[in-house]
Order: sequence, then C-alpha cells, then structure tokens
Amino acid sequence: MSKPVVAIVGRPNVGKSTLFNLLAGEMISIVKDTPGVTRDRIYAEVNWLDRDFTLIDTGGIEPDSNDIILSQMREQAQIAIDTADVILFIADVRQGLVDSDAKVADMLRRSKKPVLLVVNKVDSFSKFMPDVYEFYNLGIGDPLPISAASRLGIGDMLDAVIAHFPANETEEEDDDRPRVAIVGKPNVGKSSIINKLLGEERVIVSDIAGTTRDAIDTTIKHDGKEYVFIDTAGLRRKSKIKEELERYSIIRTVTAVERADVVLVVIDAVEGITEQDAKIAGIAHERGKGVIIVVNKWDAIEKNNKTVKEYEHEVRRVLSFMPYAEIMFVSASTGQRLIKLYDMIDIVIANQNMRIATGVLNEIMAEAVAMQQPPSDKGKRLKLYYITQVAVKPPTFVIFVNDKELMHFSYTRYLENKIREAFGFKGTSLKFFIRERK
Ligand code: GDP
Ligand code: GDP
Repeated sequence: MSKPVVAIVGRPNVGKSTLFNLLAGEMISIVKDTPGVTRDRIYAEVNWLDRDFTLIDTGGIEPDSNDIILSQMREQAQIAIDTADVILFIADVRQGLVDSDAKVADMLRRSKKPVLLVVNKVDSFSKFMPDVYEFYNLGIGDPLPISAASRLGIGDMLDAVIAHFPANETEEEDDDRPRVAIVGKPNVGKSSIINKLLGEERVIVSDIAGTTRDAIDTTIKHDGKEYVFIDTAGLRRKSKIKEELERYSIIRTVTAVERADVVLVVIDAVEGITEQDAKIAGIAHERGKGVIIVVNKWDAIEKNNKTVKEYEHEVRRVLSFMPYAEIMFVSASTGQRLIKLYDMIDIVIANQNMRIATGVLNEIMAEAVAMQQPPSDKGKRLKLYYITQVAVKPPTFVIFVNDKELMHFSYTRYLENKIREAFGFKGTSLKFFIRERK
C-alpha cells in the first residue's frame, strides 16, 4: 500500500514549521537506530481518522530578500507538484495577501493538483474571519482558517485533506507489477542502471497514468513480466544552495520509496559507502520496504580475491541497521550482473509477502526459549506465551508476554534471528510488537 503524500508550501514565517510539528507530533522519532533521517524535520508520518499519510515540509532556508522568497517559493511549489497528492498552501492572515502568494497560487492552480488554501494565525475566528475572505482572491478555492499555535481548525483542515485522497482501492494497489525505486546520491549511476536495463530488454512500455509523478516511471518487461522502475534521478533540480538540494533529494527519495515494493539503494563503488548513503538507505528501512544494496561501477575498481569481502564488510558496518539487505556488485557500464537484479527483486518481494503459519512460529519460539533463557529482572522472569504473524510488507509479528518491561531489545533480536534462520526473509525488515497478556 502506498501512502498519500501531502506537501506544505508557503512563504517564510507563515507558520509552516509550527503546523508541521503539530501534525507530526511525537511520530517524528519512532525509529531510533536509523541514522540521520529522523532528525531531519523534512517529512513525517501522520495518521488522521485511520488514514496514514506522509507529510512533507518543502520549505527550508530563510531567504533574506523578496526576490529570493519568490524564487524559493516557486521551487517549493514545483517540488510539491512533482511529488504530492495534496498540497497545503499556507498563508498568514496577519500579513494578509501578498504578491508572491498570488504568483505561487497561479502556478499551483495550473498544475491541477488538489490544493488546499490554509490561512494560518486565525487565533480568534470572530476577530479575523473578515480578513480571511480576502484570500478568495487567490482563486484556489475556499480558504480554510486555522491557528497552528492555538490548534484551531486543524481537524476540519485534515478532513479536507483526506477528502482529496484516492479511495482506499487505488489503481496502484490493483496493479500487481513489482514497483522498484532506484535511490542514491547524485552520480552513483541510477540513470545509467535504468538505461542499461532498458537497452538490454529493448521493450519500452509507456505508462499512461493520471498523475504527473507517474510520468517518471519506466516500465520494463523482462522474461515476460513487467517491472515498474521509479527513478529519482529523472527529475533534476538546479539550486546553488546545498541544503536545498539535499532537502529536495530527500523529498524525492521519500516519495519514491513510499510508492515502491523494493528499493535499490545504489552506491558508488569508486567513492565507497558514506553517511549520506546510510541516510538514504535509512529511509527505505524506516518504511519497512524490501531493500537491495547495489554497489555500482564495479568495473572501475581494482580487484583482488579479498575485494568483495572487504567491500561487504564496510557496507555492513555503515549500514549496520539493515543486516538483512542483500548486497550486489554490478556495473551499469558493462552490464555485469544487472540482469540478476530481476531475480533478486522477485525474491525480496516474495519475502516481503511471506506468511508463516502460527503453529510453526510457536514451535520456533519454544525451541529458541529452551535454548536461551529469557531475561529476568528483580526475580521476575519474562514469559513468552504466543507469537503470531499479523501482517506482510513488511512481515509483522505480535508476541504475547507476561511483562513487556522484561522483553529486552536484544531478546527480540535473538528471536528475530531464529525466525530468519528458519525462513530467511532476505531483503526485508521484520517488525515485532510486544503485547502483555495477564
Ligand atoms: P515557517 O517559517 O513558515 O515555518 O513559520 P514558523 O512555523 O517558524 O512560524 C513563524 C512564526 O509564526 C513563529 O513565531 C510562530 O510562533 C508564529 N506562529 C505560527 N503559527 C501561529 C499561529 O497560529 N498564530 C500565531 N499568532 N502565531 C503563529
Ligand atoms: P545518477 O545521477 O545516479 O543518475 O548517475 P548517472 O547514471 O548519471 O551516472 C553518473 C556518472 O557515473 C556518469 O558519468 C556515468 O557514465 C558514470 N557511471 C554510471 N555507471 C557506471 C558504471 O557502472 N561504471 C563506471 N565506470 N561509470 C559509471
């Protein structure tokens, strides 16, 4: 299931960050062992009335002149148009309607994306409502008054957001073709990989889909089966500001990963693995997607009989939070091992969808418990009653215990390893929920 993406656009100081933080709440830092990603307040998971969506703040740096404000707003708006299902255009009732608002509103209107005009800082409806009506002049629909600071109007705004989401059964979900996102830093060879795969197969099926973001998808037929590649390199953005480029690249990655079943994290063999690679891989890990680490430009490396081992070791060290991911050494230039990606993609998807019968799971847990005693604290020992798989993509398990506090992270890891020993689950993370049963 791919989650809808909602993007926030607006001038500096209208209250974008305040609204973002309010909506993101404590959801921001759920995963502690993923480096980097959770600290960036660029995107967050939000839940409203049983609908989950990814919220993106497209605005980053504080510009210091009006010219820069307008060009930056255009840039933000373009990112939102490229990536979002619904755009929240935030204005400020206290600053009133300004020229740059009108220009950006024009741009958003032309994109035909659903846009909600949100007028913030309406801390008192009775006092400020007359000023809100002025925003009708933007021609992008009814202004929704809110106060992010006093939490007014937020529920009505979220209702309006959700009303624009595709119905639960979207076309994408009916579509059972594997969806593969190719992510990675600039210049690691993402486009080269796609182009080479296209060249090998010589079959291009054009995607005619409703939304603009699908325009960057490439469908490739291999062995009679179609694969949809979501390429984050396809859209390039020019910006002189490094932070802005990075923000853009993270937003592109998040939205591509969101729509994918399997993520190919491409790494440049010549450059070696870096923290930035870990940050990108972390996005796929956090979302529980299938992951394949693709070390590209393998042709350009001087090799001896230790090179692969050393390389693997270094990749595992930097990406220690995803030991389950398969590593492949390829070359987009020579085509070496690229064809094998398809088999790996199929395997990872099968593992993401694998369901283990409850009886078998409980046998494995009983055996694991017999081999290594569960932890205890102050004379009380952890008891594990029952395990069952409750979901796929990623495979998710619930373990019922006597006392949650006694279930150490390391013991969950131990059980995870036992389950992996039995079933592999290569390429996919596993999720565990611990519940108490008295
Ligand atoms: P951003 O630059 O668009 O991200 O704006 P911020 O979220 O940083 O907010 C800019 C300023 O507006 C801060 O001083 C906030 O405290 C203030 N602010 C945000 N929302 C509201 C609101 O609903 N009412 C009032 N009165 N002030 C707000
Ligand atoms: P992207 O920004 O990730 O899409 O990277 P590109 O596909 O544009 O590739 C960046 C540069 O790396 C180009 O100059 C490519 O020719 C080069 N490149 C890509 N793949 C390989 C490879 O497998 N081997 C070598 N030697 N160079 C490669």
